[in-house]
Amino acid sequence: SLVSGEGRAVVFATGMKTEFGRIAHLTQAAEKTVSHLQIEIARLSKLVAIFASALGLVFFAIGALIGLPFWANLMFAIGIIVANVPEGLLPTVTLSLAMATQRMARRNALVRHLPAVETLGATTVICSDKTGTLTENRMSVRRVFCAGMLFDANPLAEGFAAGHLLRNAANCHNLKRSQRDGGEVWLGDPMEAALRDFAGQHGERGDGQRLGELAFDSDRRRMSVIVDNDGARWLYCKGAPEVVVQLCAQVDHGGSAIPLGEQRRQQIALAQEAMADSGLRVLAFAYRKLAPEEIPAERELVFSGLIGLHDPPRPEVPEAMARCRSAGIKVIMVTGDHPHTALAIAREIGLVSSAQPTVLLGEAVRKLTPAQLQIALDSPEILFARVTAEQKMLVVNALRNKGEIVAVTGDGVNDAPALKSAHIGIAMGVSGTDVAKAAADMILLDDNFASIVNAVEEGRAVFENIRKFLTYILTSNIPELLPYLAYVLFRIPLPLTIIQILAVDLGTDMLPALALGAERPEPCLMRQPPRPTHERLLSWPLLARAYLWLGPLQAAVALAAFFFILHLGGWQYGEFLATTDPLYRQATTACLAAIVIAQMINVFLCRHPRVAAIDFPLTRNSLLALGLGVELALILA
Ligand code: ADP
Ligand code: MG
Repeated sequence: SLVSGEGRAVVFATGMKTEFGRIAHLTQAAEKTVSHLQIEIARLSKLVAIFASALGLVFFAIGALIGLPFWANLMFAIGIIVANVPEGLLPTVTLSLAMATQRMARRNALVRHLPAVETLGATTVICSDKTGTLTENRMSVRRVFCAGMLFDANPLAEGFAAGHLLRNAANCHNLKRSQRDGGEVWLGDPMEAALRDFAGQHGERGDGQRLGELAFDSDRRRMSVIVDNDGARWLYCKGAPEVVVQLCAQVDHGGSAIPLGEQRRQQIALAQEAMADSGLRVLAFAYRKLAPEEIPAERELVFSGLIGLHDPPRPEVPEAMARCRSAGIKVIMVTGDHPHTALAIAREIGLVSSAQPTVLLGEAVRKLTPAQLQIALDSPEILFARVTAEQKMLVVNALRNKGEIVAVTGDGVNDAPALKSAHIGIAMGVSGTDVAKAAADMILLDDNFASIVNAVEEGRAVFENIRKFLTYILTSNIPELLPYLAYVLFRIPLPLTIIQILAVDLGTDMLPALALGAERPEPCLMRQPPRPTHERLLSWPLLARAYLWLGPLQAAVALAAFFFILHLGGWQYGEFLATTDPLYRQATTACLAAIVIAQMINVFLCRHPRVAAIDFPLTRNSLLALGLGVELALILA
């Protein structure tokens, strides 16, 4: 979009042949797989459907064999099926995911696809950007290299003769001037603002008229502007030193350009490394005075210097790193910055601690075979530097092929394919482009790494919570089912009618189940390794606990209540009771009430399979108290 002024465009490709088309193609080619939760719910539904229908059919056959009248027998078969279907499951799952997304939004993680919440909880690897995510993106100039000498910037050491460097820094940017509080501020990339401010402090206003731009892109790693200064056209370039120095033929030495020999190149490289080793982000600057008719191009530039910027790590990141370590989640830094800068920052935030971590350059990644890359990724501490977006996607795919659940961050348009192919694509809310946000599953509102870790914790809690209310919902299937079996096998009056079953499944059970879905993450969640990817939502221990232990207990209570009332009313075994008989109605009501009361107790047992119910304060979950109240009110009504 052209915001103002005029431009001339040359069309050299259209549609899928353009750069946009290429990225669109990559984005489309990166398939989106169904999430673990979707697979699990589908599997659960299938299992339950088969089990319920089979049981219904079997008992229909038994009923027919022992000579039940057809309609009664059909009712009975339907009752069995209804009793076995957890009707409340889907609304509860959806609502529990929706509530988790709300909690996550409060912790600055905006989820775009509901199932992503649960996938987050299974994350085993996080590939994170450096600038702005692990660091604050609050830059300040620390050191300057020009005319063969390295200077401290604060305060600027004696003997600094900038030549073209400051003018270069003051002009080469994409900042917008804005008036605020009477003063003038520059809006845009914090790094560019720091560079401009630095130049401004040393008397360089950078008010040349801008004629054009060769834009920045993280694959080119540089940008240039064309500026009219004192009647001549200048091209000012800045970017990663490896890239910019290669484009230079001369070096600015106190205002005059001299040839850039091998020795000076070495000197520049050494200066860059010295700065990068202390964690500074190093940019190189170069310029070219354009001849009157010359078409601007970044070639045969004059090198004007290096500037090292400090970007402090976010204070909350070291703790987040420690939490990842105890939670068994591997963090891999994937950055476009220089390897030495990356390593220095990684050490500072506690991402690497060993003497020899693996540092792979993007260029090297491209040359590795997929198998070699997968082996390299086995290294316990690894980081990737000078990586382009496409190389990032190679890393993501290699991790996926190793069976990891990968979360990856990104901000640029180019990052879209990597965001799509990861299990969880995370876009930056502040610095991210719209394209990256559209391709992502989650948006980080504060660009902060610590928020990713919080989101993982919520994701883990969701999985645990779904299990909690699964146990809860499945338990009541048994006291719903056993009365039917007793009815057909022992020829007693039907203890629980179909409407009563539905009253439990879609009425009294709903709110307590939801409350279990809203349980807050337990502190121990982030001290366990990620759950294995093949681990099922509906595991055998869970089924056994619900169907073989809690369920039968409830059924015993319910049937006991039923027979107790019948006995009080003088009913004898074998006696027929009409469904309109007051005694029968009182007895089924007792059975229903017993199930509901048992479920009110059960909700506490479902909060954890091992931890005692009394160890959970009720106040931590206000929905639970509400759920119990409503449950009681419903059964009284
Ligand atoms: P990262 O932000 O992880 O360092 P990027 O892909 O954004 O990675 O940037 C890659 C490299 O491009 C940076 O290390 C820097 O050298 C250079 N660069 C970044 N922003 C700019 C910019 N606005 N102008 C010129 N060069 C830049
Ligand atoms: Mg960046």
